[in-house]
Amino acid sequence: MSLRVTLLGTGDTTGTPTVGCDCATCRLARERGVERSRFSVHIENERAGESILIDLSPDFRQQFLTRDVPLPDAAVVTHIHFDHLDGLGNAYRIFDSLPVYAANEVDPETGESVAETIRRKYDYLDRVSVHDVTPLEPIKVCGLELTLVPVEHPPLICFGLVIEDPETGAKLSLSGDTSYDISEPARDRLRDPDLFLADAIVPAALCDRHPLGGSHHDADGVPRSFGTKHMTREGAMALADELDADVTRLVHTAHYYPADEAFSEPLAVDGEQYRLDGSGVTRLENIADAVDAESTAE
Ligand SMILES: [Zn+2]
Ligand SMILES: [Zn+2]
Ligand SMILES: [Zn+2]
Repeated sequence: MSLRVTLLGTGDTTGTPTVGCDCATCRLARERGVERSRFSVHIENERAGESILIDLSPDFRQQFLTRDVPLPDAAVVTHIHFDHLDGLGNAYRIFDSLPVYAANEVDPETGESVAETIRRKYDYLDRVSVHDVTPLEPIKVCGLELTLVPVEHPPLICFGLVIEDPETGAKLSLSGDTSYDISEPARDRLRDPDLFLADAIVPAALCDRHPLGGSHHDADGVPRSFGTKHMTREGAMALADELDADVTRLVHTAHYYPADEAFSEPLAVDGEQYRLDGSGVTRLENIADAVDAESTAE
């Protein structure tokens, strides 16, 4: 009995394929039947029979219709961008109760904490309760230890996440939406995960297409951040290396990846599933593949 981690949504804010887009990457995704919907990760504590949802994707409905995972017993919101929060409206008439955990730190940009913004925007959802979380202080949710870790996603505050199983020592770290410019204390908290899910929106070569270019260059001049908000693929891999992650999957990726790079390792696609039992990471059969195999067998 261990942690079962399902990548429900592995795309950026437009997803892949992107609506109305006929680029080679979106065409290839349609051909292969793979998708990168808006970001969400499902974590099931198999021992407790309870699960946590990280971020509420606008694609929530489709994700739960297509993936064989139970509805969550609790949710965590990393920040207030559309692609991470606005799926919460899906909770209406679906849940008897849903506790949502979010940071209590006031964002100078909005004058509210993430928790306060959720309360204000979703006050009509009677069955949702929003719980304040102090960053860097672990809380217990669904039998697991969960810590919000401050990362860099200007101008908004945003949090990465560490989830640990106190019984087995299994550790999952998520970078959240972030540039490479993560503080040392935050890196220390994220360090040494069994599985690391890292924001890698585009390859570094595309930084010249960003109005601000790239930033946080390495010794060879390769930008590890795309503008100020996200890591490049190269930045995400450098961070994974520094954190000494056992297994790394790149998430929050955009359709701007060239088609011949967009579906190569270690870029994740929706439906990937991993089991963390404290002694390592097992990749389970991709749920999407399993569905495809069933339908072709018929
Ligand atoms: Zn496209
Ligand atoms: Zn964001
Ligand atoms: Zn995002």
